[in-house]
Amino acid sequence: MAGPGQMDRLIACLAKLPGVGRRSAERMAVRLIRERTGLARELVSALDEATRELAGCVQCGSITSASENPCALCTHPGRDSRLLCVVEDPADILAIEKSGGYQGRYHALMGKLSPMRSQGIQDLRLQALLERVSRDRVEEVILALNTDVESDATAVFIRERLADCGVRVTRLAFGLPVGSGIMYSDPVTLSRAMKGRQMP
Ligand SMILES: [Zn+2]
Repeated sequence: MAGPGQMDRLIACLAKLPGVGRRSAERMAVRLIRERTGLARELVSALDEATRELAGCVQCGSITSASENPCALCTHPGRDSRLLCVVEDPADILAIEKSGGYQGRYHALMGKLSPMRSQGIQDLRLQALLERVSRDRVEEVILALNTDVESDATAVFIRERLADCGVRVTRLAFGLPVGSGIMYSDPVTLSRAMKGRQMP
């Protein structure tokens, strides 16, 4: 007979997903089990298919079909191999692609240096990054990392490791959000926007 054990296990699994807290995981679990709309079965089927047919790209780390690995972004002849954009998460690649302003290659670290969550150098795809930079004759590494303390530490670490590789290392400019006002910006954003000011 079903007991609280199964429910706890389901909630614990859901709560491991990024951006899902314990409370949200409980609500998802209740909805999946209580509502007999077929959503649970659909989810199981979609997960089963995705895990069988999708994989992480061996080169950049983004999600691709298991039959097309390296992915289309890595093999497309029209993309500039001299530019390598480093992101923390494959989802960041999708966001940058949507912006339409970048035509180089990508490299996902799969995280950032984080002593609090004991994610260290060995957990990131840093060695693969160093190998790519020399093998693919990369001229500029663009760090498209987030703006927290751990991302800053990761950026400094990568810059130091690449110092002897003869490659230019840049980081995305931090600016004011479009459509927002100066008075609504937090002091750190304003300070970084001031440092990264450009010709109008
Ligand atoms: Zn790829």
